[in-house]
Amino acid sequence: MHELAIAENIVGTACSRAAGRPVRRVTVRIGALTAVVPDDMRFCFDVAAMGTAAHGAALDLDLCPAIIFCRSCQADKRLPDRIPLCPCGSADVTVTTGRELDVVSVETA
Ligand SMILES: [Zn+2]
Repeated sequence: MHELAIAENIVGTACSRAAGRPVRRVTVRIGALTAVVPDDMRFCFDVAAMGTAAHGAALDLDLCPAIIFCRSCQADKRLPDRIPLCPCGSADVTVTTGRELDVVSVETA
């Protein structure tokens, strides 16, 4: 489970952006290719936030689908799973979205 390490990172970012104020809500954009499980993420966030300014803060997850651009099809395709391969079978693709793991906003008290 790599969610805890990611959650610790998110809590660290949220606390530094809050600059000492208590954190109420953190919004995080998570791409489908990051393999983060939302429920695990919420649990780990609560654990990582204990004893920090983000203790008890709400975690909003903005889930992004994985989109690739396939050079064989010359088109954007939505990936059905985490394998960066076009449904046409081509591996000549560029990942457009799906690798996001960003703290979008931090709401403080
Ligand atoms: Zn294709």
